[in-house]
Amino acid sequence: MEVLRHFIDGEFVESKDGRRFQNINPATEEVIAEVAEGGRDEIDRAVSAARRAFKEWGRTPVARRSEILHRIADLIEERAEELARLETLDTGKPLQLSRTLDIPRAAYNFRFFADFVKGLGTEAFQMDDVALNYALRRPVGVAGLISPWNAPLFLLTWKVAPCLAAGNTCVIKPAELTPTTATRLAEICQEAGLPDGVLNVVHGFGPDAAGSALTEHPNVDLVSLTGETATGKAVMRAAASNLKKLSFELGGKNPNIIFADADLEDVVETTIRSSFANQGELCLCGSRVYVERPLYDEFLRRMTDRIASLTVGDPMDTGTDVGALISQEHLLRVEGFIERAVADGGRILIGGGRPAHLKRGYYLEPTVIVDVDRYCEIVRHEVFGPVITVQPFDSEEEVIEQTNDTDYGLSATIWTTNLKRAHRVAAQIEAGVIWINTWFLRDLRTPFGGMKQSGIGREGGVHSFEFFTELTNVCVKL
Ligand code: NAD
Repeated sequence: MEVLRHFIDGEFVESKDGRRFQNINPATEEVIAEVAEGGRDEIDRAVSAARRAFKEWGRTPVARRSEILHRIADLIEERAEELARLETLDTGKPLQLSRTLDIPRAAYNFRFFADFVKGLGTEAFQMDDVALNYALRRPVGVAGLISPWNAPLFLLTWKVAPCLAAGNTCVIKPAELTPTTATRLAEICQEAGLPDGVLNVVHGFGPDAAGSALTEHPNVDLVSLTGETATGKAVMRAAASNLKKLSFELGGKNPNIIFADADLEDVVETTIRSSFANQGELCLCGSRVYVERPLYDEFLRRMTDRIASLTVGDPMDTGTDVGALISQEHLLRVEGFIERAVADGGRILIGGGRPAHLKRGYYLEPTVIVDVDRYCEIVRHEVFGPVITVQPFDSEEEVIEQTNDTDYGLSATIWTTNLKRAHRVAAQIEAGVIWINTWFLRDLRTPFGGMKQSGIGREGGVHSFEFFTELTNVCVKL
């Protein structure tokens, strides 16, 4: 059986005490690898290596850094099929999705930031003929990069690429449920010529383990986390000791607002994706669907027809639309939400159970729940599974008010052919990312992130570099 080791200072190593944990394929419930379980010792060694490497990497010319990042992208593309299969084995997501989204985006993240950094400027302000101010942009230092399990390589590279492009070094703590592609990324970086110590990977768990050791470490200067809101709060407390710079991409409870004048065909097709892509385990999935009352019955009819045609099953099968959830614990958690929604008066319109034809694996049918009100737990809490609620609404004011009645503020989707209304509503929705008549269409130059308890800061384009660099103003008396 494969053993996944830490990658510290250019070497693959076991933990000092030899501890390991098991990696399970959620579609088969089989153990697919043993993983070195890191803790404070391994984090210490990795941070020291990153600190040493920073001296050189931080001064390496941008053109050279960019060249290495492009080489990493090349190697990801060369190994795309292998990486896609590994991602699917770890996560249970359809292979088709790993092939078309996760792995191509991982490569593109490197290309994008490799190019973007070359055109990155700073700012200058002239004070008449008295003085000239200009800002120097410099890397920050050693970054702790903590990633989730739902899109392991794609979301990790979204942090690693700008971090390295800007001249920082890093210690990665991948999600314990999906350690494989981060380990492969370390191999790829080494092959691409990234100097030892610039990128380190320490496997292990979050609280009271490798994760907290990294976020508490006094020699780590910045932490970028994608994960749950509760994790963000824990990391913020841990990072306070030496005032680390923080970037958080956290949970969401994203609304999908459908006005009666929308193009129903398009709405249904896209809502199927925005609800059930990646088993609903995407932070951007829209889990609260609001439909203007004249369209409500017709929308539900078309959605249930379309859901009935989805294939839930073996993620390795290219005909599969919905794969397995990440773990048994998560499946039980999602089922708990469904049970309590029914106890709250909700009605399951379709789905709600484990597919009868699948005897092993953490599968759940795509589920639609109706007849719930705004105070139900299922409408207020992030479920992170293939479960949506659908509620009717009567007015624009009402839907805006209900939409914003949440602690989250990550993304929203608005469907209408009335252009004025689209802009008017978008300007009033409390979310960091809003789509009109589409979903998941991404331009990597744009700001990405959440407001309220969905995150702190923005990633993408110059915003990633605002986080991964420091500006020093130099004032020159003329
Ligand atoms: P999680 O918070 O459980 O874990 C994320 C990472 O944090 C893991 O590597 C974990 O080991 C680590 N961690 C956990 N507790 C820690 C602690 N106390 N100190 C340091 N590290 C700790 O999240 P998850 O279950 O892996 O991912 C799902 C969550 O991520 C959902 O809430 C989802 O909405 C969110 N997410 C957000 C975005 C976004 O861009 N906003 C993208 C993807 C996922």
